[in-house]
Amino acid sequence: MRSASTFNPPTRILLGPGPSGAHPRVLRAMTAPILGHLDPEFLRIMDECNDMLRRVMGTENRITLATPGTGTSGMEAAVMNLVEPGDKVVIGSCGYFGDRIVQMAERAGGVVTRVTSAWGSPTDVAGVEAAVKAAGNVKLVGIVHAETSTGVQTPVEPFAKIAHEAGALLLVDCVTSLGGVPVTVDAWSADAVYSGTQKCLSAPPGMAPLTLSPDAWDAVKAREVPCNSWYLDLSLIEAYWDERRAYHHTAPISMVYALHEALALVLDEGLEVRWARHEQNGRALQAGLEGMGLVLHADEGYRLPVLTTVRIPEGVNDAEVRGALLKRHSIEIGGGLGDLRAKVWRLGLMGESSNPGNVLLALSSLGKILREQGFKADIGGGISAAAAGLEGA
Ligand SMILES: *Cc1c(COP(=O)(O)O)cnc(C)c1O
Repeated sequence: MRSASTFNPPTRILLGPGPSGAHPRVLRAMTAPILGHLDPEFLRIMDECNDMLRRVMGTENRITLATPGTGTSGMEAAVMNLVEPGDKVVIGSCGYFGDRIVQMAERAGGVVTRVTSAWGSPTDVAGVEAAVKAAGNVKLVGIVHAETSTGVQTPVEPFAKIAHEAGALLLVDCVTSLGGVPVTVDAWSADAVYSGTQKCLSAPPGMAPLTLSPDAWDAVKAREVPCNSWYLDLSLIEAYWDERRAYHHTAPISMVYALHEALALVLDEGLEVRWARHEQNGRALQAGLEGMGLVLHADEGYRLPVLTTVRIPEGVNDAEVRGALLKRHSIEIGGGLGDLRAKVWRLGLMGESSNPGNVLLALSSLGKILREQGFKADIGGGISAAAAGLEGA
């Protein structure tokens, strides 16, 4: 039998598409004593999570909670609760996660129009507008704010206007943006927004913040057939998060502790300060990669600071480079997904992982390995370009 003593996860520097590194305060919170899920002290912690979630998401929506499960549980809760069989849905997809929303909406029985953009460009405003008009009587328009497969940020406001002029609800995936780039649910007038704990909130994977506007909640309440998912039925989950405290599932106690501490850390730092930190480190990394002679993949003007896609140079072995980074430097970066497999690397600077030291370490380590692979990376040029971007940090 294998001994339990073989359990010894190393400390990695997580610079991939998630999970990101967690703050020690978050990890410490997870070792606190387990409370019953109806213990008054636990309920108080949940209420605080609720208040902090509203502040971090920029909303006064009453229906604001966290679903049990990773970011995908938030996506599935939003889609399965809002889409009924026969509902018309338009999804603007510019990458892997947009496609995942399409699959879910189809499984929910929706009649889905997918408006596809190139993997590296933002979601197509005119295309979505035309699709909404052509379909008529659309119930839900969905987009991904921060597309982690491509490193692209899609501005939300135009889609809110398109959806609301057509009498539809707007769903926005903010899994990678929340806590890293501005997410302002009420200012956007977005109707269904979800995220995850493991990206810019810097807690382990395991919960998904979610908020619904009053209109979206009305749509959930007005369903003719119950939601296809029992576990993620928001009417049932909400009855536990609100003052009724009706048992639905046993809350993942330690993950709620982690969420609580992660949100407190975001608010202690201050949203604006935190956004500026991610912006500065992300732009410095991007300047550094270009300074080394590499080519960024995402369209200029739409690049996320928290997730950078960079093209793998001709003749360089994707797996060998990522393997060497992990083995020699304990750095994790991400490979390409779907259409971008073996074509790009994905470098995340999310939450705790977003700091100047990691920017410089990533550049020098990657530069050295690229030179071994025969690509003449200008390491000095890259480091000085990044350092210029970090000045004043
Ligand atoms: C990571 C991610 C998800 C899924 O989150 P999991 O925690 O992996 O379930 C969904 N959407 C986007 C944009 C993501 O980056």
